[in-house]
Amino acid sequence: MHTQKIPLVDLHAQYLAYQTEFDEAISRCLASTSFIGGPDHKAFTQEFANFCGGGYVALCGNGTDALYLTLLELLGKGDGTGEVITVSHTFIATAEAISLAGYRPVFVDIDSETYEMDISQLEPAITSKTKAILPVHLYGQMVPMDQLMDIAHRHHLVVIEDAAQAHGATWQGKGPGQWGDAACFSFYPGKNLGAWGDGGAVFTRDPNLASRIQMRANHGRTEKYEHAFEGVNSRLDGLQAAILRVKLRYLSQWNQARRQIAQWYDELLTGLPGVQIPVIAKEAESVFHLYVIQIDRRDQVLEELQKNGIGAGIHYPLPLHEQPAYAYLGLTPEALPVTHRIAQRILSLPIYPEMTNSQVQTVVEQLAEISQ
Ligand SMILES: *Cc1c(COP(=O)(O)O)cnc(C)c1O
Repeated sequence: MHTQKIPLVDLHAQYLAYQTEFDEAISRCLASTSFIGGPDHKAFTQEFANFCGGGYVALCGNGTDALYLTLLELLGKGDGTGEVITVSHTFIATAEAISLAGYRPVFVDIDSETYEMDISQLEPAITSKTKAILPVHLYGQMVPMDQLMDIAHRHHLVVIEDAAQAHGATWQGKGPGQWGDAACFSFYPGKNLGAWGDGGAVFTRDPNLASRIQMRANHGRTEKYEHAFEGVNSRLDGLQAAILRVKLRYLSQWNQARRQIAQWYDELLTGLPGVQIPVIAKEAESVFHLYVIQIDRRDQVLEELQKNGIGAGIHYPLPLHEQPAYAYLGLTPEALPVTHRIAQRILSLPIYPEMTNSQVQTVVEQLAEISQ
């Protein structure tokens, strides 16, 4: 079958649409040779804080470091016995940051409809060793943060939000970092706000926390060769800041476009046998980092789609608790039954702001044909 190729994410379309602005921003950055720090880094720090609803931002080298540096700052370096509660249904970086900071990841199951952390599983997972809760706002939808914060307050726990897929998302009208102690973002190229390389940020309402994390990301520096404490080298490049400043101006518009595309999919997919469309909670406004359906015979469908040039994917095929990397936790696949079952049925369909209605139709037509 010959159809037009539709990738999972089309970064080239976005580059072409804003090429003049990117070229101008890059030339300006190059002319001032502001490769580390500099005016774009400073301006983006402020602009991203404004985007997050007003507060403070520390920029760093990637989203994994954003989580790691925040954990270190809020909990101190752990000795491996303290626990941080998160989900197994996420990208490995979430759990890696926990281990790297010296804590043990404790996985709870997800809600079978939204695929977000199941809040009813949270309290039973809290022990005397629990130090923090690390909710993941997966696929662009936020976790029920009002309920999560009630539990965190009752148990005096730190809350760090993994918002790597949720720039601009809200729960009851408030975004990541307006609930917990801090929210951590990734600017990996394919994220809703993506750099042309790696990048990350921490947003918090606490100015002191933001400034400590910004220092920790730059060798604990106060002056060029004066160090208040030991940190790491995890800086956002000046060039990446220049590119991200251009993109930030369009982020709300792009998120709106993603919601429109999701609505087209919803309408076209409703009633298709064996397909379950995404469920977004009433209190949530999703930014649809991914559009994830459940489908029967998932693996065959995925293979057929890819053969026909449709860039579908799975996020994520093997839950963390079933990964060799976490065998030491001693969890069976069935220890998290919803996570285990969902991982075999989920399928991410192409979505990016420049995607057209006719491209959405093509994807759905293919899907309908294959899944018959
Ligand atoms: C992308 C991602 C990260 C890690 O971000 P990097 O910038 O790639 O280090 C962490 N958590 C989730 C849920 C992600 O999707």
